[in-house]
Amino acid sequence: MDLNFTPEEEEFRLKVRSWLAENLPASGLRGAAPGDQMRDKTGLDRAKEWQRKLHQAGYLALSWPKEYGGQAMDPVRQAIVNEEMVRARAPGSVGGGVIMLGPTLISWGTEEQKSRHLAKILSAEEIWCQGYSEPGSGSDLAALKTRAEIVGDEFVVNGQKVWTSGAHYADWMFCLVRTDPQAPKHRGISYILIDMKSPGITVRPLVQMTGDRGFNEVFFDNVRVPRANLVGKLNEGWMVANATLFHERNALGATTTTQALLNRLKQLAASVIRDGKPLTTDPVFRQRLADLEIRVEAMKYHLMRQLTDTIRGRNPGIAAMVNKLVGTELNHDLSTAAMEALGDYALLARGADQALDRGYWPGEWMFSLGLVIGGGTSHIQKNIIAERGLKMPKAAR
Ligand SMILES: Cc1cc2nc3c(=O)[nH]c(=O)nc-3n(C[C@H](O)[C@H](O)[C@H](O)COP(=O)(O)OP(=O)(O)OC[C@H]3O[C@@H](n4cnc5c(N)ncnc54)[C@H](O)[C@@H]3O)c2cc1C
Repeated sequence: MDLNFTPEEEEFRLKVRSWLAENLPASGLRGAAPGDQMRDKTGLDRAKEWQRKLHQAGYLALSWPKEYGGQAMDPVRQAIVNEEMVRARAPGSVGGGVIMLGPTLISWGTEEQKSRHLAKILSAEEIWCQGYSEPGSGSDLAALKTRAEIVGDEFVVNGQKVWTSGAHYADWMFCLVRTDPQAPKHRGISYILIDMKSPGITVRPLVQMTGDRGFNEVFFDNVRVPRANLVGKLNEGWMVANATLFHERNALGATTTTQALLNRLKQLAASVIRDGKPLTTDPVFRQRLADLEIRVEAMKYHLMRQLTDTIRGRNPGIAAMVNKLVGTELNHDLSTAAMEALGDYALLARGADQALDRGYWPGEWMFSLGLVIGGGTSHIQKNIIAERGLKMPKAAR
């Protein structure tokens, strides 16, 4: 594996870096804490505007084909942009459109769906949420009960979703519905696109322990959805759903978030004075930092190996299944170390006068715990690695 970048790639990196240096400070979003952007309309508008800018500059969806608004660039350039975004502490895209639905539609959508949705996903004109989980159907996603009956050329949807991140500001939802209740559970599911302005949809907030309204309950009461909004084949939505999950898990396991947290933790530790000395000189805490940094580095090279496989047309296989598990647990361990570094200051959250590092860490610590669960819990990731990766026998359920 060649870890060096070509001169052209280095030139591209400098171009990205200087564009970020020029444009990010004006956005007021540098180093924003999770949830900060979405707290009110102003924050949301600012985050959308930033996504639009990234897109216009050609730094969003680099690997998407040009005809769908991407740059048709190789994954190395995407990795460079990701690294520079971390370096500049720049936020990414809003909602699940760019990360999850876009790549799914490129593989599974009709031409009509692609031309209707992809451009608006990139420009942040339409924000997407994910309607998968239901009460009684989280880890066992295929047990979902939200029903869609075909009436004429429409689906009529009834049921409930839960933990739907961003449903209160999303314009559209990609949603799993049961279209054949008689079929075995994985075979009677369809993947449809629902306009959140459709009559019959009620969105109720669920406030998280961070104090933010991150996710919601969504109720469907005879919601009518055109049949043309079916992605993939009727009753074969499980495969499409898994394609989206693959993109979600890769994004959640991105090494860039982890690297950014490590950098921020190191800065925090250098600024915390314990027994008259910076915490970075404390041998026990140094050992802790070293251990975390080794894990972050290991993950970085693990992802570079996958990047090499992708460039060479090889399937990274089991390696890719590990990313979400390792990345989200590492993020939580990094923020746990930060909370311990803060000591009593960990009680001071965002907005408190005396809070260190703008009160960033308590929210990050709680949020990163949520991401160990969201997108499939660590237990479920371990089952997937064991069964699909290591080909171990299925656990009795
Ligand atoms: C921050 C956050 C954002 C989210 N956003 C969304 C969203 O936008 N859209 C959406 O649809 N959903 C979303 N979710 C929901 C998420 O996908 C589910 O919470 C997750 O899949 C777990 O399901 P559950 O909560 O029903 O837990 P359960 O499935 O009830 O699991 C409870 C516990 O049992 C364990 N468990 C269950 N089955 C097994 C098994 N077979 N083997 C071993 N252990 C098992 C789990 O690991 C867990 O510890 C979000 C969740 C969080 C935390």
